[in-house]
Amino acid sequence: MLEDLKLLARLQTLDSQIDEREEKKAELPKRLAPFKEEVERINQLLREAKGKLEELEKKRRHEERELAAREVELKKYQSQLYQVKDNRAYAALEEEIARTKEKNEASEEEILKSLEIEEERAEEIKEIEERLKEEEKKLSREEEKAKQETEVLNQEITKISITRQEVAKGVSPGPLSRYEKLRQGKGGLAIVPLEGSSCGGCHMNLPPQLISEVKRGKKFVTCENCNRILYWKEANQRE
Ligand SMILES: [Zn+2]
Repeated sequence: MLEDLKLLARLQTLDSQIDEREEKKAELPKRLAPFKEEVERINQLLREAKGKLEELEKKRRHEERELAAREVELKKYQSQLYQVKDNRAYAALEEEIARTKEKNEASEEEILKSLEIEEERAEEIKEIEERLKEEEKKLSREEEKAKQETEVLNQEITKISITRQEVAKGVSPGPLSRYEKLRQGKGGLAIVPLEGSSCGGCHMNLPPQLISEVKRGKKFVTCENCNRILYWKEANQRE
């Protein structure tokens, strides 16, 4: 088998190993995505829960201010009671006092109810914060794992690349650039072994004449269908 064919087959193995590792690296961010989404989802829940609590507190504080203002009014009405001489005015004032008291009672009830709900909401917020912490931990564990895997892959790629460069040096320039161009156009696969009587790249059945030429290994033979360079693995292993 031609030396160039042998070297290109070797080069292809190394390039495919590098490609495989590059693909794995590219997959890593996708693996992190669901963990990031979960953290974001719980963060959103937390923002909503805090927003609701703030709303409740705001309403309750408003109610408290209203109540305080009416308490002042009530005291004013009550002191006026002693000064009113007119019966009708007295009755009207008494009615006003009763109405204000009623309003204040309703306010107090509402404030108490709100405080209870606020407490429940605060509990919920604590629970959500706990869940968030858990999910953030999971995410950072996954990120750490991905970082380590990336490091390992990078080390492997560096190692394989060194061998690859050595092998590439031995290939004649013409076949090498033909190989590089084919690799770009054929999804990284430029030279493929015969698989029985088929092309190892596109799996098309090949004519016997072509197969025997490939097996002889004395020249570059390409698949008629996918145009990839063909070689015979057994010849490669025998020599
Ligand atoms: Zn083919």
